[in-house]
Amino acid sequence: MHYIDSHAHLTGENYRDVEISLMMKKAQEAGVVEVINICTNKISLERAFSLPLPYNVAAITPHDAHLEGENFFCFIEKHVDQLVAIGETGLDLVNSKAPLESQIIWFKRHIKLVLKYKKPLVVHCRGAFKELFLTLDEESYTGPLLVHCFTGTGEEALEIIKRGFFISFSGILTFKKSEELREIARAFPLERILIETDAPWLAPQSKRGQINEPANIVEIAETLRDIKGVPVASQIYTNTRNFFDL
Ligand SMILES: [Zn+2]
Repeated sequence: MHYIDSHAHLTGENYRDVEISLMMKKAQEAGVVEVINICTNKISLERAFSLPLPYNVAAITPHDAHLEGENFFCFIEKHVDQLVAIGETGLDLVNSKAPLESQIIWFKRHIKLVLKYKKPLVVHCRGAFKELFLTLDEESYTGPLLVHCFTGTGEEALEIIKRGFFISFSGILTFKKSEELREIARAFPLERILIETDAPWLAPQSKRGQINEPANIVEIAETLRDIKGVPVASQIYTNTRNFFDL
């Protein structure tokens, strides 16, 4: 079985270089053949290039929208050819200290960037789907888009399907209390689903409280297989390769 972890923060502050190489080895042994590394600041992207990691994605997150981002944004544009997508950008009305207005400004700048360079867009959205869809409409964005770590409602999932976008499920899918999310996953078309660890956060149920890592993607894949009642790994692998054009 082959897996791709579509969203992990390998080069953030949580792992040392030696831990990254051990994790990647462990991941490979578990069948995780690729990891998409998400960089949320200039230091993490520079580190990804120097290691080097093959598949990187970068953007200013909605959590940092109130901070000075110009320098990082210029660096992203300068190296855009080395990125497989732009993200995670988006809107967060639950966990972000940044005002919505500044989140929208950066989100729109990232949308313009993907339109200019024809890259897929990785979106973070928490409690702000109405504003998210509105912003996408204002920018007339209908291109490839992945809502990472989806935790929205059934109605929001339907809107994502209608717009032809993708969603990705994280370890939250495996949590005991996530019955509603599992219902959404059951109904969501498999051709539009990706999976992710969001490591170092959101370790799946059997590892809760621990630092997460890409090898744990297998537990999420198995949970999804049980929900769907059919094999899912090979379809999700294909979805991921196609989405990021790997
Ligand atoms: Zn993330």
